[in-house]
Amino acid sequence: MSHPNWHGKRFYSFDSYIKEHFGKKLYKVSLDAGCTCPNRDGTLGFGGCTFCSAEGSGDFASSSHQSITEQIEEGITLIAKKAETDQYIAYFQAFTSTYGPVERLRSMFLEAAHHPKIAAISIGTRPDCLPNEILSLLEEIMSIKPLFIELGLQTIHEETAKHFHRGYELDIFEDAVHALSNRQIPIVVHLILGLPGETKQQMLESVSYLNHLPIHGVKLSMLHVLSGTQMGKEYEQNPFPVFSLEEYVDFLILCLEHIREDIVIHRITGDGPKDLLIAPLWSTHKRLVLNTIAHEMKIRNSYQGTRVSIHEEYRFPS
Ligand code: SF4
Repeated sequence: MSHPNWHGKRFYSFDSYIKEHFGKKLYKVSLDAGCTCPNRDGTLGFGGCTFCSAEGSGDFASSSHQSITEQIEEGITLIAKKAETDQYIAYFQAFTSTYGPVERLRSMFLEAAHHPKIAAISIGTRPDCLPNEILSLLEEIMSIKPLFIELGLQTIHEETAKHFHRGYELDIFEDAVHALSNRQIPIVVHLILGLPGETKQQMLESVSYLNHLPIHGVKLSMLHVLSGTQMGKEYEQNPFPVFSLEEYVDFLILCLEHIREDIVIHRITGDGPKDLLIAPLWSTHKRLVLNTIAHEMKIRNSYQGTRVSIHEEYRFPS
């Protein structure tokens, strides 16, 4: 059986997609638009998702006191020390980056979109923070530079989602996917593998569910238990099982086999802040994790999508 050309990889990596569409590797510059999150400011709840650190998933983002251009320039300076490139992706990573007055967001997104070294924009948000005026703004940004919208779903199981205080139900996510898809805005979905109380079967159900949706990509990550979070406290009082490296690699490969071939895999491991990480400590060795996954996929002759059945595949309406 032949497999697509994914630049030598056994899954459709984001790097492969970027090389295909931009002709070279692009690096991400993490940005902070100065937004908070409805799950933290009291609109939906206080404290946020129980795994979320005080920096709101943006522990590598630059300071929100700086302008977007200053943050981009600072990020470029740091990346340029390690890599040779002149084009970047502006990644609005901290908290919920579409949560705020639309005119303020507009000026920040436009500042990034018009920067000469920014080739594409990626915006992380919640599916319940995409009202019509924001969707129109995203269309406007997409008319200037390629755009990705990243939605933190984490799981399709309501019981798990309630346990970590996600604050929205699955139908809200589905409405957002359809609203974005109707406007042809590429969607990247985040899933966390190893949330407390979930079985591997449940995690696989979340992965397979994505095959039915008109999404562009997925980010998979092991759960990171961080100090200073509610989950960190729960773990310290009553440790729950987290993946070992071997278990994670084994399960991650199974997940990739269950994902449609056309879905771009933006991430297969996590980037938890080292100074806050309680468990699993092996996840800080990112290169080791990536190499082990590649090695195991080769040994098993494994490829993305080999376990997707025909009836699972999504077909875009003609
Ligand atoms: S929605 Fe995102 S930013 Fe908000 S609390 Fe949850 S993980 Fe943190």
